[in-house]
Amino acid sequence: MDGELNETTLSPDEAFAALGHDIRVQILKTLATADRDDRPMSFSDLRERIGTVDSAKFNYHLDTLVGHFVERTDDGYDLRRAGGRVSEAILSGAVTDDPVLELTRIGEACHHCGRQMALTYRQERVATYCAECGGTFGTSTRQEAENVPEEYGFLGYLRLPPAGMADRTPTEVHEAAHTWSLSERLLAATGTCPRCSATLDEWLTVCEDHQLGDGECDECTNRFAVMHSASCTNCIFDQRVACGSALLDTTELQSFLTAHDVNLVSPEYERFSSVMLNYEETVVETDPLEARLTFSVDGDALSLTVDEELTVLDAERHDAR
Ligand SMILES: [Zn+2]
Ligand SMILES: [Zn+2]
Ligand SMILES: [Zn+2]
Repeated sequence: MDGELNETTLSPDEAFAALGHDIRVQILKTLATADRDDRPMSFSDLRERIGTVDSAKFNYHLDTLVGHFVERTDDGYDLRRAGGRVSEAILSGAVTDDPVLELTRIGEACHHCGRQMALTYRQERVATYCAECGGTFGTSTRQEAENVPEEYGFLGYLRLPPAGMADRTPTEVHEAAHTWSLSERLLAATGTCPRCSATLDEWLTVCEDHQLGDGECDECTNRFAVMHSASCTNCIFDQRVACGSALLDTTELQSFLTAHDVNLVSPEYERFSSVMLNYEETVVETDPLEARLTFSVDGDALSLTVDEELTVLDAERHDAR
């Protein structure tokens, strides 16, 4: 019937069962990587691209996908939204690949001590370390398992899908992971899940006995006392970052950074980290929480005082000239 809304909903096991054959996965990948001009694609074109498959068998597998993952029109076959999302996950390597990079030094300096940084890659995460100082967060949860010496300071995790590892040197991997993670953090700073777009639950925590000894606190093992946590109300996304990152959606911080050539879209790591991972914090009150974060660059400073909802109560600029 014309105008009929032909929505299909599958349970997760039905969806994965429908994908459970190599020919079906190849059909999705073929449609996803075909030139726009070649889509929709006729039955014979699609079959030809996939190679020697018996026509009846091919028809059977294609039919299994039609409806939810693939749409059939008079012009041929094309991906539906769900088919596109599955193809994205497959092509990013997120569901199939598991590249590993053991501890490697890179051409980037630690933002605390200026010495050479090192990184590892496992399970979609770059972990960054400094051989010379205590880092930002004490030790990582994977430090022992990854054979990273205990004395290495942990600088943080950066997300990067496996496809991001291809054709990049370790230094380029770090740069790509920093850019990718920052775009996720910018979205998370607005309270929106970077993975599924649902709302994030957010809260601040403070280490009440924070004492910076040799770089990080004995009590909480972090360099920063005020930490921001976010957890998706819908999917498994969660993150815990130094509070400064969670203020990246404020106009005050954005304009301060931009005025000092700190680019938030294609960030240059050393410049970005020298401001965003080296700020000063003062806990004004613990109950209710009120904290002042002071970001400095080129002798100029911006102090933001925030409450436990991360509302900016006060913004103050101190310029060198
Ligand atoms: Zn260091
Ligand atoms: Zn502490
Ligand atoms: Zn989510």
